Amino acid sequence: EREVDHATSEGLMQMARDGETKTVVPTYIGLDAYRATGGYRLLAKVRAGEIGADALIETMQAAGLRGLGGAGFPAGKKWSIVRSFKGPRLMTVNGDEGEPGTFKDRFYLESDPHRTLEGALIAAHAVEAERIYFYMRDEYPAVLEILRTEIAALAQAGIIISGLIELRRGAGAYICGEESAMLESIEGKRGLPRNRPPYIAEVGLFGLPTLNHNIETLWWVRDIVEHGAEWFAAKGLPGHPGIRSWSVSGRVKEPGVKMAPAGVTARQLIEDYCGGMADGHEFKAYLPGGASGGILPASMGDIPLDFGGELAKLDAFVGSHAIVVFSQSDSAKDVTLNLLKFFKHESCGQCTPCREGTAKMVALLQKQAPLDEAAVRDLESVMRDASICGLGQAAPNPVNHLLKYFRGDL
Ligand code: SF4
Repeated sequence: EREVDHATSEGLMQMARDGETKTVVPTYIGLDAYRATGGYRLLAKVRAGEIGADALIETMQAAGLRGLGGAGFPAGKKWSIVRSFKGPRLMTVNGDEGEPGTFKDRFYLESDPHRTLEGALIAAHAVEAERIYFYMRDEYPAVLEILRTEIAALAQAGIIISGLIELRRGAGAYICGEESAMLESIEGKRGLPRNRPPYIAEVGLFGLPTLNHNIETLWWVRDIVEHGAEWFAAKGLPGHPGIRSWSVSGRVKEPGVKMAPAGVTARQLIEDYCGGMADGHEFKAYLPGGASGGILPASMGDIPLDFGGELAKLDAFVGSHAIVVFSQSDSAKDVTLNLLKFFKHESCGQCTPCREGTAKMVALLQKQAPLDEAAVRDLESVMRDASICGLGQAAPNPVNHLLKYFRGDL
């Protein structure tokens, strides 16, 4: 159904060169089809009081549903914290899927958007949020069109009152995927991350307590309530409750969105879900969590991938579950330089450790001389300790791993 790949800037630029403006919307499950399979019955039950907010929160907690945008905060706990602050409250849905290598949220919104919309309406009901703001990246024109159409269809069908869900477009800044920068952007200001505390659960959008969720997190809500917390939790591997989506790309035979248990390893994703490595390529390294989660060697390809745990001990993290696979054809130093250039470009510039640190890291890695490791380590600690937000704090992760695990590539 897709004629043009709108997701890539190259695709958009080509369209602009061709003078083409048409957005090709893929086939997806619309409102009627979604309702025909029981969609929005759960929302009706929740609104009728047949399932109370406390029961919903308990179910989310028992299921072990975590925030799948990258932070991994337990969803049920978040709902109960937001509810504990005096209303009025608001809700935001973060669809600014900008972490390199991540494309799962786009997949869900382009195939089954009402599952996320129903999840959002249930979550909003649980915390008594008066309005929901969907913040979508502008590089997903098909998603924007689908959401525009389906939000209008919900109002038309009387499932929501007009204006309950507002759709907001981002303008291409990676940092606006950071929740507090996203709130600034929705408020019409420059997307600069806020200092915390206070956390957005207490002082969020327009100064009100705000529940913020990622697209996929909300996509799971209906299934979890309908099938039960145990059903969801049992889908994970021992010690890692739940199932999630992994965006796998790089030197594998069949890249794409893979549904796999929490705690799966990179080697299992490559072998069991992606048909193995691409022809002529051997597994050398991988990014466990997009640009921010660091870079690990294949010898660490059997580490269970989940929030915290073994990855955290290595200063790595699974973040938005974007696994990028590299082979002997790739230099870990080139990969690291590429990632640091990305962070330098996307740093909002608000704080010195990140603004100057990313630029200096790039300069050090580009120098045609032995790497000044003392300077790199010094910068790394300043960036980790003194940056305002996760961008500056996580930017040194790949450099740290380059020095530790890929000395042959220096
Ligand atoms: Fe901006 Fe970087 Fe500071 Fe975050 S760490 S506030 S992105 S300058």
